[in-house]
Amino acid sequence: MRIRPYLIAGTAALSFCTAASSQPAPSEIDAHIATAKAAAGLDFRGTFVNLCLPGGFPAGPGGRAGAPGGRGAGAAGRAAAAPGPRPAPDRATWYASPYKVFDNLYWLGSRQFSSWALRTSAGIIIIDTNFDYAIEPEIIQGMTQLGLNPRDVKYVILSHAHGDHDEGVALLQSRYGAHVIMGGPDWEATLKRDASYAGGVPKRGAGDISVGPEGYKLTLGDTTVNIVFTPGHTVGTLSYIFPVKDNGKTVMVAYSGGTLTGAFGSDAKRWDEYIDSQKRIAEAAKAAGASVIISNHSEYDNAYTKARLIAAKRDPGVENPFIVGPDGVQRYFTVMEECATASKLRNNAK
Ligand SMILES: [Zn+2]
Repeated sequence: MRIRPYLIAGTAALSFCTAASSQPAPSEIDAHIATAKAAAGLDFRGTFVNLCLPGGFPAGPGGRAGAPGGRGAGAAGRAAAAPGPRPAPDRATWYASPYKVFDNLYWLGSRQFSSWALRTSAGIIIIDTNFDYAIEPEIIQGMTQLGLNPRDVKYVILSHAHGDHDEGVALLQSRYGAHVIMGGPDWEATLKRDASYAGGVPKRGAGDISVGPEGYKLTLGDTTVNIVFTPGHTVGTLSYIFPVKDNGKTVMVAYSGGTLTGAFGSDAKRWDEYIDSQKRIAEAAKAAGASVIISNHSEYDNAYTKARLIAAKRDPGVENPFIVGPDGVQRYFTVMEECATASKLRNNAK
């Protein structure tokens, strides 16, 4: 009887020695995760954790456009809610002040979910529109607080048709006559929605734009937004490259329109589409010399933290915290591509 603990200890010691003396070659999955982790560094930890570590995040928002329950994760307790009127979550849990982050780019986000206003010489382009409860306090009042007139909104570009980014769009269209731009498949899913969808359903008429695989260049006044078709997170996800001014100097921005992959399962086509999209937007960002990477969730681009940093006094010569350099932008897309590659292998998608 007394010998048993001794044997267990001996077995444990033996296996430790084996592991230490002949390290198995890291698996292919681990290699992709290690590459992603190195690329993320300290800048993109949220993106790395959510995309690369299994079980770290609910799968909800990875669903196809218009899929039931395809709402944003962490949506203040409203994930997977049925369409239609719902009580708004307590404002104290999500409200954030608006901030001007470049000479002509304004962050109009709640703490987790971002909308942006890009001011041009011929009006304003809104990028993503948050939940229905956020449209008035964050976007309409946010613009007014920052000296922008909501009546100047000419276009709304939606990265993809999930509630955390599109519930505000119908109001901007009906009240201000803004034209709506969406990826083709996400437009189709949107038009099939029930009229009771939170925030309402936008109409597709003359002047609204449906973007296909060839992408689209939207020019408004002095500004051109290069819209890149990046299906994956939804089948019609869009990403963008556009210029902003930082103290008068032109800086190129890359906007990543869709992130999570949780619902892809063993659907290899879906994984490949997502991975190809990351390569395509990374190339477009490189060609444009993009040195800023932003998205529509603060946990990926730290927009809420960076916006507040800018509001604090910025000493002369100190770089805008949104500028991560061309290398930083490329590293961001490396995290997405490598995590997706690892997850595809992990899901045995063939
Ligand atoms: Zn989404």
